[in-house]
Amino acid sequence: MALAYDDTNIFARILRGEIPCDKVAENDHALAFRDIRPQAPVHVLVIPKGAYVSFDDFAANASNAEILGFTRLCAQVCMSEGVDLAGGNQGFRAVANTGHHGVQEVPHYHLHIMGGRVMGPMLS
Ligand code: 5GP
Repeated sequence: MALAYDDTNIFARILRGEIPCDKVAENDHALAFRDIRPQAPVHVLVIPKGAYVSFDDFAANASNAEILGFTRLCAQVCMSEGVDLAGGNQGFRAVANTGHHGVQEVPHYHLHIMGGRVMGPMLS
């Protein structure tokens, strides 16, 4: 069952063009833009255009086309930002903070893609 989605969240407002973002890439199903408080030299958020609260909501309820479009946009971001392993680069961290225990701030699914430095251990 899909989770209840609150369309007043900040990423829904970005998708509707109500507030600006620093866009990196876009396709029919997903949008990528820079995090407003970057934690690394590369810090891009990739979001689906559909109304999904979290990673598990998206994985369970999005169509195959949405999942493919989202995933391909993630790959495009990794290439364009120079963090993709396939391009001979040093790699990146991809994180989907989820729910209360995952300390998710914005209730619209988003994948953080962070690179450009060696990340610390994820212990906290
Ligand atoms: P979460 O904890 O939900 O995974 O992270 C949400 C992320 O969204 C944070 O890294 C935060 O800096 C970012 N963020 C929050 N509001 C905005 C905004 O208005 N614009 C952009 N570009 N990023 C935002």
